[in-house]
Amino acid sequence: MGFLKIDKVTKSFGSLTVLHQTDIEVEEGEFLVLVGPSGCGKSTLLNMIAGLEPVSSGDIVINGRSMNGVRPADRNIAMVFQSYALYPNMNVGENISFGLEMHGVPKEEREKAIDSVADLLQIKHLLKRKPGQLSGGQRQRVAMGRALVRDPDVFLFDEPLSNLDAKLRVDMRTEIKKLHQKLGTTIVYVTHDQIEALTLSTRIAVMFGGHVQQLGTPKEIYDNPANMFVAGFMGSPS
Ligand code: ADP
Ligand code: MG
Repeated sequence: MGFLKIDKVTKSFGSLTVLHQTDIEVEEGEFLVLVGPSGCGKSTLLNMIAGLEPVSSGDIVINGRSMNGVRPADRNIAMVFQSYALYPNMNVGENISFGLEMHGVPKEEREKAIDSVADLLQIKHLLKRKPGQLSGGQRQRVAMGRALVRDPDVFLFDEPLSNLDAKLRVDMRTEIKKLHQKLGTTIVYVTHDQIEALTLSTRIAVMFGGHVQQLGTPKEIYDNPANMFVAGFMGSPS
């Protein structure tokens, strides 16, 4: 059984059903990319995994534990969004440290954790700067640092690179991939960019019309699309 299990999850907003009985299993250490056109329910699914949005029916199970009724703060999950949402008045170090402080981690331990994450993301020289003094790529790195420092069971990314210019997007893609290879954290990563999905993932779930159209390795999806939608969506760049 998967480390993270989306078990027959249905999600409706009023009369609009966004996801129908969705089943996805993610193995520990896997890099799963959810891909699909805008509005197909990718963010909604991530928000349900994080506990920011309740499921209408079904269950989300992490490491054998049902998440029904478990508050976001009690799920060991970190999320990185497209908008960086850094605290503008705190410097980089404080931004990274804040979540740990909230969880009562002692100062000495916090400093060690910040140091190792800053090292990993190559932002040591930026720790005293304010977010306003950083480039888009640096800010995104800090946002990742803030998520990573909590050593999450599952790392969720919602289109983290879509605000960056093309060159930086390619660089960050390489870095995220390296980071995953180094840490082996379980990742669920949302994008509407096919190339990003194909280059980053160990497996891809292609979503459309409230259903997972195909779940497979990049090679399987690219070489053997399950239907016309997958062939069209994955075959042509956005
Ligand atoms: P994606 O991330 O794939 O672009 P979303 O998960 O954001 O798609 O949205 C899926 C659908 O659910 C869209 O039609 C969107 O308008 C709708 N939706 C998302 N959140 C809400 C909400 N809080 N209330 C009503 N409708 C919502
Ligand atoms: Mg979205």
